[in-house]
Amino acid sequence: MPTINENFLKLEKNYLFINIAKKINAFIEENPDKKDNIIRMGIGDVTQPIAKCVIEAVKKGADEMGVKETFKGYEDSGAGYDFLKEAVSGYYDSFGVKINADEIRINDGAKSDCGNIVDIFGDDNIVLITDPAYPVYVDSNLMNGRKVIFADATEENGFRAVPDKNVHADLIYLCSPNNPTGAAFTYDELKAWIDYAIDNRAIIIYDAAYEAFITEDSIPRSIFAVEGARQCAIEMCSLSKTAGFTGMRCGYTVIPNELVVTASDGTTVSISQIWGRRQGSKFNGVSYPVQCGAAAVFSDEGQKQIKENIKYYQQNAKVIASTLDEMGIKYTGGKNSPYIWLKCPNGMDSWEFFDYLLKEANVVGTPGSGFGKNGEGWFRLTAFGDKDKTVEAMKRIKNLKF
Ligand SMILES: *Cc1c(COP(=O)(O)O)cnc(C)c1O
Repeated sequence: MPTINENFLKLEKNYLFINIAKKINAFIEENPDKKDNIIRMGIGDVTQPIAKCVIEAVKKGADEMGVKETFKGYEDSGAGYDFLKEAVSGYYDSFGVKINADEIRINDGAKSDCGNIVDIFGDDNIVLITDPAYPVYVDSNLMNGRKVIFADATEENGFRAVPDKNVHADLIYLCSPNNPTGAAFTYDELKAWIDYAIDNRAIIIYDAAYEAFITEDSIPRSIFAVEGARQCAIEMCSLSKTAGFTGMRCGYTVIPNELVVTASDGTTVSISQIWGRRQGSKFNGVSYPVQCGAAAVFSDEGQKQIKENIKYYQQNAKVIASTLDEMGIKYTGGKNSPYIWLKCPNGMDSWEFFDYLLKEANVVGTPGSGFGKNGEGWFRLTAFGDKDKTVEAMKRIKNLKF
């Protein structure tokens, strides 16, 4: 009989969204007449269809697969076709960041790399994660039995965690604009993290999945827009939220060529090289038609079309934010992010507010406590929904008496 990796037994039994689904199902069972009245602003999934020019490119790629002369089998490197890596590199150029195509690896979404990157680091590393955080960072490290410590993101620091010079870490996870809080680091705040990482000879794993939602010039679109990042950071990005690829699956990871660590025998190890080695053994690349679609996202027409969708979600965020403003409810996010992170009214805890909102307004959100202890008393609403439903949900919330 095999033994099991018992670290799995220490994880939370259920993923947050399964608990939410259970609560909704129980509510519907008790109130069958309310079933169609429920408005879901919980799960962070997009709702707008993928841009036309992107779908055309996917179809064209699929057609090429059906013709002997243009058929494609395994990709040589599994790291993505040059045409897509060049397109991503050009995209970085458009906001003034120089990334070489050979520093980019294409993947099937940011979640895989965020979770899998831990493979190349020793289990004795101290991992620093902001609290609250996207659950993948914590879970993937606990699965390997690694020590995780937290940097507090709270109301006091605007949910933008600040490094503590008295605490050592080897790996640091940062997500900006943040899921769940919608808060985003400024250049100076990110510089403080980079300085901390360099002092500790640590590596920052930077999740930029929401960079396309940034509207303010004071917020960097990439950690590589900040000085020093090339010697201490890896960036992960995704087309999921940017271009509606949650069901299509494509993302990219940037590892600077000069990023290195020293092994126990004193040799210098390239992070890019060792991650390539890991991927070479465990990952065979993203399907060709999907990469064709992804490349179209970065074309002029693609950028124009995806910006329309992003604007649609940003308008929803404005509707949510202005309602909360009118009600005097405190929140972060919404400006550079599709998430609004609000303080539960009347001192309710996160699940109390969840139940209250479901029962009284038939609106579903995400309890902040599901993202870490500092999320208790907070609540996430997403702007990824349908416009009319978002307006209706906010009308109902405005009518609630707290
Ligand atoms: C949605 C999301 C991702 C993207 O995941 P994919 O696997 O690319 O769909 C990454 N990080 C965060 C914080 C997210 O919310």
